[in-house]
Amino acid sequence: TKTTTATQKQEFNIWLIFTKVKKKSLLAKKFVNLVYNLINVSSVPLTFHIIIDEKSKLLAENQLSEVVYKTNKTLIYKFYNVQECALKIADIVDVMTPYFSSKPGTYYSDALFYISLGLYRVAPVSQKKAILLDCDLYFAEDVKLLFDEFNRFKSTALFGLAPELSPVYFHILHMYKKKHKTTFGDFYQQHNTSLDNVHPRGFQGYNSGVVLINFEKLRTSKMFSKIISKSSVFNMTEKYKFKGHLGDQDFYTLLGFEHSELIQTINCGFNRQLCTWWQNHGYQDIFGFYFKCEHPIVVLHGNCNTKIPT
Ligand code: UDP
Ligand code: MN
Repeated sequence: TKTTTATQKQEFNIWLIFTKVKKKSLLAKKFVNLVYNLINVSSVPLTFHIIIDEKSKLLAENQLSEVVYKTNKTLIYKFYNVQECALKIADIVDVMTPYFSSKPGTYYSDALFYISLGLYRVAPVSQKKAILLDCDLYFAEDVKLLFDEFNRFKSTALFGLAPELSPVYFHILHMYKKKHKTTFGDFYQQHNTSLDNVHPRGFQGYNSGVVLINFEKLRTSKMFSKIISKSSVFNMTEKYKFKGHLGDQDFYTLLGFEHSELIQTINCGFNRQLCTWWQNHGYQDIFGFYFKCEHPIVVLHGNCNTKIPT
């Protein structure tokens, strides 16, 4: 007898954060540009999940209908209220904020900083994986290429992240590196074969403008709940005297060094950052080594408000 296996339809979930937005602001423009860009560049049907506050919701709705009108394509999207999201991840925010926030602000603006770590609690249980994107991105190539990266995940990986392309973690680890021999914070093309380490060529840390998340694995991971506990975060930050200000990506960077099995490094072409701030702030000599990206560029990231050349 013949058996037919029902093939599960793959979902292509994109999460965006769109809060504290003013009409005609830069962020409003970036948001509409990105959605328009994604719709046009994608060979697969995308589902958008957008985290909003009540004011930004009206703006988002207007802009999305504008995209529908301009492209004549259907747009599948769902909104999530930021305060409800904040409640669901409050414990994570409490643990992380002392170490990875520069100036703890309001309750929910802090939560946004760490949302990627708790998004598995916000997303419907049926959602197995998703990609969280900043709004300041431009896709030069099909977004499906990014989803395809999930297929390359090692079995233990929960998140997929591209490297940070500035020396910010070299800077943060400066004192630690004076006393300890480590490749942590070094640029990754740097050969340092004398060190027996998980990142023998240096580790620049991660950038969280593009985050691939395996919700299915996260929800059942025993490891993850331990890793985000107060004592775990205390121990990791204490070890490196780590005081960051970039939220979730600071935590991912520590994980990348201490628990590299949990993170899949995707190449820099999937998050080609353009911010050159550190070049003019003490690191002119080495900035170029961090900034270099020789992979084919799929995603451009105009971080620190850098204009994206298109
Ligand atoms: N964001 C937001 N409201 C804000 C600021 C930021 O919703 O007032 C979201 C938005 O999705 C943005 C992301 O947070 O893309 C990260 O901020 P940004 O990209 O400006 O940071 P950068 O990449 O420059 O560090
Ligand atoms: Mn960004």
